[in-house]
Amino acid sequence: MSAQRGLACDIVVFGGTGDLAMRKLLPALYYLHKDRHLHAETRILSLARAKHDIDSYRRLVQRHVSQYVTQGDFDPTVWEQFAQRLDYLSLDVSQRVAFPRLAKALGESAGRVRVFYLATMPNLFAATAKHLASAGLANDNARIVLEKPLGESLETANQINDQIGTVFDESRVFRIDHYLGKEAVQNLMALRFGNALFEPLWRNAHIDHVQISVLEKVGVENRGDYYDNAGAIRDMVQNHLLQLLCLVAMEAPVHFEPEAVRNEKLKILEALRPITGMDVQDHTVRGQYSKGKRAGEVLPAYYFEKSVDHDSNTETFVALKAEIDNWRWAGVPFYLRTGKSLAQRKSEIVIQFKAVPHRLFPQGSDRPAGNRLVIRLQPDESISLSLMAKSPGRGMALQEVDLDLNFADAFKRRRWDAYERLLLDVIEGDATLFMRRDEIEAAWQWVDPIIQGWQDCYRSPKRYAAGSWGPDAADSLLERLGHAWLDERS
Ligand code: NAP
Repeated sequence: MSAQRGLACDIVVFGGTGDLAMRKLLPALYYLHKDRHLHAETRILSLARAKHDIDSYRRLVQRHVSQYVTQGDFDPTVWEQFAQRLDYLSLDVSQRVAFPRLAKALGESAGRVRVFYLATMPNLFAATAKHLASAGLANDNARIVLEKPLGESLETANQINDQIGTVFDESRVFRIDHYLGKEAVQNLMALRFGNALFEPLWRNAHIDHVQISVLEKVGVENRGDYYDNAGAIRDMVQNHLLQLLCLVAMEAPVHFEPEAVRNEKLKILEALRPITGMDVQDHTVRGQYSKGKRAGEVLPAYYFEKSVDHDSNTETFVALKAEIDNWRWAGVPFYLRTGKSLAQRKSEIVIQFKAVPHRLFPQGSDRPAGNRLVIRLQPDESISLSLMAKSPGRGMALQEVDLDLNFADAFKRRRWDAYERLLLDVIEGDATLFMRRDEIEAAWQWVDPIIQGWQDCYRSPKRYAAGSWGPDAADSLLERLGHAWLDERS
């Protein structure tokens, strides 16, 4: 067990009874406590409008934490200690008059770091920041964490960022994208910049194309209200998928420090070729799931999901071809794909290298495919590299084999959840894995014309059966250039 470390701080979770807090934030804080990463004097104060006394709130959290931590990791003795850190305050963030009660509950700050984590809907962010300031809580030691989605367009994101910016300067704003907290995503940087092997090949001369897929088996579940207004492009592409693309494509930063890393990511976002006008139809596919089946189970159509409009035209699937106009990536398609109610849950990045230029070995061998590097983020975290090897026996027939690195096997230690890592980074003030305002703006600048193009053409999203791999048009998008999604389809 490591020694207790970190700064004594106050972690204030707005939306402390919500899904995100219960499923992710409080279990992550429990683990940080269990592994002795929280200072003995660190306190956690949760806020929401619901009425709870401290005992009923702690019972609520206990029920969820014991459910969401890995089986066997919930220890009643550890829980009792953790529960002592936890407090609860019923408060409506839209009411300025409520904030002096928060200030009173937190007491004197005396230079103590305060993390205000906004796990509420974004339409409450500006009021929360303003009211924190009015109660004298937005001082130099205060940091604010903003959950996605940050706005619905460049214009609305700017409004939120402007309003937050009047209270918190940029160095104290932590815009979270939990994909960046995943071990496998950080390993992508380790792989690229910690090994001499890949970097010389990491360019258009050797890479044929890149695929980034974030596929979900679940439908919209209880989030129909939010999702029907957002759709897959705002919910996933504008943030998670573009962030992954940046990490694949960026140049090596000079230091592994927040500004250096974020400057490089920004250059990629700015180099994305705009998809506008007629190109929107050619380069993108939007889909919506209709009724389907998976393993005998009947799956509902999107428009029959709870809180979804029966005439909804919202996309639950997007596939698109992005291109980066710079020296390194000119001519390399980056295919992005995300969707709900699909055949499989997986998040992965595929780097497809070009095939060897000359076919040396006899016919009958596997086609000498280009090597393929697959970085898998979900459901398991792994990296695998396909190589051509000689098949055992006579002759020189080649066969594709995989070099696999499964993190669970390679590192016997428990794998951290992304939120553990990111919460600790916020406490320590390290913004490397958080999005800077200009990144958010550049991402919206690229996404807005695609949404506009869809609106202008009045076409409904293409239907795909729930439980399938998405609309056929997503396959055709790749077939045009002789490519195919790397799926294990039956
Ligand atoms: P949720 O389950 O609806 O929770 C919302 C929380 O905010 C509840 O605790 C709610 O409690 C509180 N709240 C609402 N209005 C309030 C007010 N006026 N004053 C004080 N508290 C208020 O939502 P969620 O799924 O946790 O999502 C929260 C945020 O995280 C959203 O921006 C979402 O987009 C983002 N996010 C969520 C996930 C996820 O997996 N859930 C993932 C990524 C990002 P009361 O109703 O009792 O006030």
